[in-house]
Amino acid sequence: MTERRLIIAIDGPAGAGKSTVARLLAKRLGYLFISTGAMYRAVAWKALNDGITLDNIDRTGRLAAESLIELKGDVDAMRLMIDGRDITEEINTPQVSQAASKVSTISAVRRALVARQQEMGREGGVVMEGRDIGTQVFPKAHVKIYLDATSEARSKRRFSEDAARGITDTTQDQMKAEIEERDYRDISRTDSPLVQAEDAIYIDSSTMTIDEVVEQIMEIIAREKGKDSNQYLQRC
Ligand code: C5P
Repeated sequence: MTERRLIIAIDGPAGAGKSTVARLLAKRLGYLFISTGAMYRAVAWKALNDGITLDNIDRTGRLAAESLIELKGDVDAMRLMIDGRDITEEINTPQVSQAASKVSTISAVRRALVARQQEMGREGGVVMEGRDIGTQVFPKAHVKIYLDATSEARSKRRFSEDAARGITDTTQDQMKAEIEERDYRDISRTDSPLVQAEDAIYIDSSTMTIDEVVEQIMEIIAREKGKDSNQYLQRC
């Protein structure tokens, strides 16, 4: 029997560890890893670069629909491209984070990106992380996880990650304020607000290591895959 290639949806607020966890899961499973936040960041980067003010809803929406956004390369060394330009190193600034949070409230932007995400994950064999994967992009995903953590834990992690990359121009308190501002925008927007899908499994990673989170999700995935063999045995 050929193994079903699942769609794994991981949602949650900024800094909960979604990207790191999703990347490790994709590696273990031999699946595609897709960070949808990177796609919103790409749109935000281009709008800033082209001098489009983010309250210009029409132009920003058109930009999202017309730009070619690609996630290329190996799961460990993924590159983000927009219209052929590699912007991987340029999207992780506080300025782009805030701009991404703002452009993601624009319905035309969401429509354009969600359609592409659905196309990318259509065949299965994908771990996709974001804010609306289990609710809007793949409401029928085989496994849905809502990964959460306190804003203290999340800002501490982001602060350490930045420090490791040599970025030291933000204090941990500023980081916490920035994350809470983005959370608020994600939760309160009218189009696809950040919310736990009814059938998502909630994991609070505040006091867990990344490996513990990955192991817990791998067990959930194994149970889902086990359903295949049970169904197969019942049919025999
Ligand atoms: O995950 P990341 O922090 O890179 O996402 C950047 C921003 O993009 C978030 O603050 C959020 O507002 C937005 N986003 C979204 N829906 C997604 C992924 C990200 O609205 N599926």
